[in-house]
Amino acid sequence: MVVAYPDAMTFEQPLPKSLSPSRLADFQTCPRRYQHASVERIPQPASYATAKGRFVHYIFEQLMKLEAPARSIDAARSFIEPARQEVLTAQVREEIGLDDDAEARLLSETQVILERYFVLEDPRTVNSEGIEMRIAVTVDDTPLFGILDRLDRDDDGNLVIVDYKTGSLPNRDYDSQTFANAELYAVLCEQKLGERPTRIRLLYVAHGEAIERPVSEPVIRARADAATSAWAKINRYYADGEFPATPSRNACRFCAYTELCRSRGVPVPPR
Ligand code: SF4
Repeated sequence: MVVAYPDAMTFEQPLPKSLSPSRLADFQTCPRRYQHASVERIPQPASYATAKGRFVHYIFEQLMKLEAPARSIDAARSFIEPARQEVLTAQVREEIGLDDDAEARLLSETQVILERYFVLEDPRTVNSEGIEMRIAVTVDDTPLFGILDRLDRDDDGNLVIVDYKTGSLPNRDYDSQTFANAELYAVLCEQKLGERPTRIRLLYVAHGEAIERPVSEPVIRARADAATSAWAKINRYYADGEFPATPSRNACRFCAYTELCRSRGVPVPPR
């Protein structure tokens, strides 16, 4: 279902200067979500899941910044308190209603994640060329920007994109969307570094499992084309003053804008 506004809007805000893999995913899920998040810049309140994701990412980032021999599980645990200070701000605590019980749960889940992560890989053996790498490139007139969790060099000398996932494992017959963000990062890396990563590793740290996929020329081309096509549509919708809504149970279930959409007449399905 595609729902348009009865009257097109004139946006007061400029378009973002670039497109990131996560914002591309927003747009592909529902252009109206992109409008609210990236054009109107309506803040999305933190959720327990997003706060936990940032919390764990912070710990891994600090761990990987250490010299390789120092990357022990005790070192990782030592970053829990700094993560509380850095990530669990008063605003985040309020947004997610983090009471003592919820905070104890988050800390306990983090301990489990760290234990499972150290079974999944030994960070002392990781040869990382970049941590939280900020990459900006232009591909076919489309400005792209992203922050990559990790870019490793494997034993064969090849680049590997590594992405930490704190959520659920995908189904065994996972679809192409599972790797979509990381494959777009492969486009960014190739453009920026002149070298194509050969593999993607998604680390599902809460489950102690990794899933991998090789990177190929057709994949790179398809992801670049998808981003270019989306950017052209974003510019067109912006000029038209209307980003269509494509409500569906899957798209709207985790969306922060359900009430706003309903108030603007979009038939958002109940959760
Ligand atoms: S609530 Fe649904 S229709 Fe509205 S922006 Fe979110 S995904 Fe799109």
